[in-house]
Amino acid sequence: MSENDYREITEEDRDKPSVTGQDEKREETEYEDICYICRRPEHVAGRMIRIPNHISICQDCLQKTFDSMNGAGFSMDDLPGMTPGKMPGISMINLSDLPGFMADRQKLKKKKPKEKKTAPAIDIAKIPAPHKIKASLDEYVVGQEHAKKVMSVAVYNHYKRIAADVKDGVEIEKSNMLMIGPTGCGKTYLVRTLAGLLDVPLAITDATSLTEAGYIGDDIESVVSKLLAAADNDVERAEHGIIFIDEIDKIAKKRNTSQRDVSGESVQQGMLKLLEGAEVEVPVGASSKNAMVPMTMVNTRNILFICGGAFPELEEIVKERLNKESSIGFRARLRDEHDKDENLLLKAAVEDVRKFGMIPEFLGRLPVMVTMEALTEGTLVRILKEPKNAILKQYVKLLAMDEVRLEFDEDALYAIAAQAKEKKVGARALRAVIEEFMLDIMYEIPKDDNIGMVTITKDYVEKKGGPVIAMRGSLGIGQKEMQPETAAALVSP
Ligand code: ADP
Repeated sequence: MSENDYREITEEDRDKPSVTGQDEKREETEYEDICYICRRPEHVAGRMIRIPNHISICQDCLQKTFDSMNGAGFSMDDLPGMTPGKMPGISMINLSDLPGFMADRQKLKKKKPKEKKTAPAIDIAKIPAPHKIKASLDEYVVGQEHAKKVMSVAVYNHYKRIAADVKDGVEIEKSNMLMIGPTGCGKTYLVRTLAGLLDVPLAITDATSLTEAGYIGDDIESVVSKLLAAADNDVERAEHGIIFIDEIDKIAKKRNTSQRDVSGESVQQGMLKLLEGAEVEVPVGASSKNAMVPMTMVNTRNILFICGGAFPELEEIVKERLNKESSIGFRARLRDEHDKDENLLLKAAVEDVRKFGMIPEFLGRLPVMVTMEALTEGTLVRILKEPKNAILKQYVKLLAMDEVRLEFDEDALYAIAAQAKEKKVGARALRAVIEEFMLDIMYEIPKDDNIGMVTITKDYVEKKGGPVIAMRGSLGIGQKEMQPETAAALVSP
């Protein structure tokens, strides 16, 4: 390490290429440095001294380091061969060797100066109207019409709320959401698509991994840290982002137990202030707080929280309530009227979710509740072919690269949907089912240049026969017999 490495960066240096070749020029980056020792950002600690490997140290800390060395009776000037008053050419500690060092990830985006901030962070004119949000969602998410409508309105209102001023004393309530729906029905997909459309950062986390501070696992505030990372450490962007907490039903209070429940209820309690809006101190570039990680403050007031879960036994609770209601008074009907109702979840009310084990304070902070339908075979078929990046379109594209046309019979699609439905993991099973029989096609077809078209039949999906293969000749490109081994490989036993 040379004397140069400790020099303060001057205006001239900014135009010069970096001394070490590793440091970027300062004006190229929107991020400010953080002192490696005291963790204060540059706008607080003042100009930083940069040493190789993207390490910055504020002048105070550097001074303290030298002072403490001198205090310990160690003087640079005492070293043999040292010119008094000059810095030694020795390296005392190589900070980059320290574990967990993530210099680049730990930089924080510079906050814009307050007085310049005349334009609102969210421009109301740029937020698409609910019908436009829904139309865009339709391109990706099949079915779930009600959920898409509720979400479009809630998101629109959320961003209007951010843009609105509160001078007149009317503060619009935050529209955090609770999504209830069986696994694989598109909860995560819907939120992901929404965040993409609105171009806001999104953090997805799993409630099961969250614990109260002090227990093993991620503490609750780590979700904000994830969002900050998704926003490229830009605090302002993160403060308008979306946090999706999946498997929220797993932190329900345990029913029928008198013991104190650490994992469920207390995590819900711990999340209250986050959902409502609080200043939280989060680590930059890491999910846990420790001495090596710089911290920053993030306000969650304008972060949209969406909690999702399958709530497996909620149906029973809804059924119980409905049966009880319908057996009382003039409107009394058959007690088991609701037993065969397939979409019982759609009738879920807040009181049912509370009975499931979510505490009232928690539910109170998720005012928008939306229930999603279980996917039917018909919807699964539509998911196969309709979305912009539908699975079938992907396979068609893959084979088109081999100049082979791929087609699916309609009843083959229903056979795929039926097999997927049996797996009971929603649309997630579709790919697994298709992958299974497409493997042979993808393996065998490129072997034989004469094949021009493959049609997947119901029999092939159900392993009762083979696909229909058309040679190029029959498509008008000069016919040849399919090679016997290719034909044999494609016919299922
Ligand atoms: P979950 O409800 O368990 O969060 P996901 O949203 O992760 O389920 O869904 C799994 C996958 O299934 C998604 O990545 C998506 O490709 C597909 N999928 C699920 N539901 C739909 C839907 N309604 N429309 C289109 N694709 C869907």
